[in-house]
Order: sequence, then C-alpha cells, then structure tokens
Amino acid sequence: MQVRIRHGACCGNAECVEIAPAVFALDSKNKVVVIDDEAASLELLIEAAEACPCGAIVVEDDDGNELVG
Ligand code: SF4
Repeated sequence: MQVRIRHGACCGNAECVEIAPAVFALDSKNKVVVIDDEAASLELLIEAAEACPCGAIVVEDDDGNELVG
C-alpha cells in the first residue's frame, strides 16, 4: 500500500490533514506532503483520499493498483 500525491492538483484546503494528521501535512506553499503513509489504517487513508476535493491523493495497493485516486 502506498500514498501518492498529484502535487499540481492539491489546492491546500487541509481536509486530509484534519482526517489523518500523522500522515499528511502542508508545506510552506500550502501543498500537501506525506509524512508517513504507514501512520494510519488503510480505511483512514481511503477516507482522506475520498475527502480531498481536488482528487490529489492516490492510494495504491502493493501491486500499484489505484484503490482511490
Ligand atoms: S485534501 Fe487534497 S487538496 Fe486538500 S490539502 Fe489534502 S491533498 Fe491537498
């Protein structure tokens, strides 16, 4: 399982940070960064990806298949 970010798509509204603050943070330009994609359950990562209004978070399984994105 892996979290990928479409950096150009992130509009910095921090929805993901609110849902999984151990995984996501915003940098100085208000773009999301992944701190630790193993710091939350798969369910929480999927919830964060689905809550992103910009479709900027991609969650993949170990084979690289997109679960959400
Ligand atoms: S929810 Fe989406 S748009 Fe908002 S900060 Fe996170 S990745 Fe960026």
